[in-house]
Amino acid sequence: MTEPFLPFALPDIGQAEIDAVVQTLQSGWLTTGPGARLFEEEFAAHLGGGLEAVAVNSATAGLHLALEALGIGPGDEVITTTHTFTASAEVARYLGAEPVLVDIDPATLCIDPAAVERAVTARTRAIVPVHYGGLSCDMDAILEIAGRHGLKVVEDAAHALPATWKGRTIGTLASDATVYSFYATKTLATGEGGMVAVRDPAIARRCRVMRLHGIDRDAFDRYTSDKPAWYYEIVAPGYKYNLTDVAAALGRVQLRRLHEMHERRAAIARRYDEAFAGLPVRLPPRPGDGAVPHADSDVHARHLYAIRLEDGAPVGQADFISGMAGAGVGCSVHYVPLHLQPYWRDRYRLTPDMFPHSQRAYERMASLPIYSRMSDADVGRVIAAAGRLLGA
Ligand SMILES: *Cc1c(COP(=O)(O)O)cnc(C)c1O
Repeated sequence: MTEPFLPFALPDIGQAEIDAVVQTLQSGWLTTGPGARLFEEEFAAHLGGGLEAVAVNSATAGLHLALEALGIGPGDEVITTTHTFTASAEVARYLGAEPVLVDIDPATLCIDPAAVERAVTARTRAIVPVHYGGLSCDMDAILEIAGRHGLKVVEDAAHALPATWKGRTIGTLASDATVYSFYATKTLATGEGGMVAVRDPAIARRCRVMRLHGIDRDAFDRYTSDKPAWYYEIVAPGYKYNLTDVAAALGRVQLRRLHEMHERRAAIARRYDEAFAGLPVRLPPRPGDGAVPHADSDVHARHLYAIRLEDGAPVGQADFISGMAGAGVGCSVHYVPLHLQPYWRDRYRLTPDMFPHSQRAYERMASLPIYSRMSDADVGRVIAAAGRLLGA
């Protein structure tokens, strides 16, 4: 009997999420309303640290809004990693700014602070570190570089819920903004959605104004309360980036289940770590493995489990992934680095030798399924299939 295909990713949607969406549909409030507001409050309380949370319809929107609110514009340079999804870099182009791509630290797969330092020019305005796979970047080094050069820091935390850096929750550090994704495959899923966490109320306010067409609600609430409820003022050519209450309903339940879902992913990662220890693969870096600068007790969000095949492995990347598919297991690659993507490669004349660590990792990488809906038997199938291909 052949078992059904095990997909690479699946959202963990249970009856509580379904009930919450149905209630929202029955409430008559489909778009942004009381549900989105509650989701923001609960998300901010979850992070702690007196932050504000601004709900948006994607992390891409959130990154765009954060950079816009921080004043990034034409000609400015924004340093980010080549080893990421294109959204981390494209938002700078939305604003007429230039992303400057740098290599990763092969020990963490996150942006290399030394490479960031080398890329700083007189035009550099911001750094966008990406917490690859759910392991936080070396935020001490990044914030130190930013402080010394007067740069803004916007964390791409699309993988990093929940994660910590030296015991502190990602989102509550001294960055200017931290942006989360609630895309269908992420660790908290609303289909499409995102959140911007910010400390400066003026930045939060600009994000809220630009999130919805440049409508300045505070301006007329605070100063023109003699105006009727139907009156509104447009103060900028804003965007349409608001999160619906339907998505927020999913998000609020998922946030309550975040710990439980994370525990499951962490348990799967531990099983993989044990099972693959003797195979010709490099395991994903994790706090406590002696190779990363993190505190041993730091939380890894475990969004991705990306192995790197060693040179002596019996199969290469393409054969490994197709072999896994043949065994009924979906795998993926995170990422085809930006320096290989036609747009980025051609615009900035990028070549693989400029990013040796990302290039080397990319050529050997495979992401295995890791999500809370996987059963113990599913995990066993992945281990068995990988073991067969890697000569266990
Ligand atoms: C998913 C992802 C994004 C974009 O998130 P959306 O919510 O789909 O816009 C940005 N950066 C990284 C690293 C991601 O993985």
